[in-house]
Amino acid sequence: MRVLLIAPPGAGKGTQGAIIAAHFDIPHIATGVLLRDHVARKTELGREVEAHLARGELVPDELVVDMVKQAVIDAKSAGGGYVLDGIPRNMAQARAIYDIGRELEMTANVVLHLKVTEEEIVRRLLARAALEHRSDDSEEVIRHRLEVYRTLTLPIVDWYAERGILVSVDAMRPVERVGRQILTALEAMRPLIDYVPESARRSIDLTGLGAAFGSD
Ligand code: ADP
Repeated sequence: MRVLLIAPPGAGKGTQGAIIAAHFDIPHIATGVLLRDHVARKTELGREVEAHLARGELVPDELVVDMVKQAVIDAKSAGGGYVLDGIPRNMAQARAIYDIGRELEMTANVVLHLKVTEEEIVRRLLARAALEHRSDDSEEVIRHRLEVYRTLTLPIVDWYAERGILVSVDAMRPVERVGRQILTALEAMRPLIDYVPESARRSIDLTGLGAAFGSD
């Protein structure tokens, strides 16, 4: 199972990525976590990206793409699955990730899009800011990260919809329900993934099924 996770800040990407990775026993490659780790260890990459992270700007594409390429190579030797969380965030990254996938025979099977309203995002991130001390969780930087998401990241969701590998999920509900819905959808798709040719794929919108999935 190879999954790309696309979601605005605060939608629960990290949590859902970890749930998927644990369920399918595949590596969880979270770009934000990897980048923050470089900053904490003061590596050369960490020094280069630190200011971008603090301002809520995207770090330069080639830095994050090279970092992720290595992680995908490692995922290939670890069994061939992955959850990529936090990339792609713009069209250039989407193309780069696709090229890397083609080169390594590791293209994504599914793109999961978590949908949350901006109001809820700001509420969640400010709540998180009170608990954690991430340099980018002030209200001003949160608004900027949302703007980056809206203008650069959201347009690539349409690109995946056209390619027929998009699954949209309503992430406004409690984390366990969202997780359950995601795992149910991925389990249902699993047997088909290797057999459905790219030309025959259809995107799925599960956002209207919240009540059905979450009612028990
Ligand atoms: P969030 O989704 O809450 O913004 P992440 O941990 O995914 O949190 O990302 C935090 C920061 O890391 C981003 O604001 C950005 O500065 C940097 N970052 C993460 N992934 C990428 C990426 N693919 N391209 C550029 N910058 C990235």
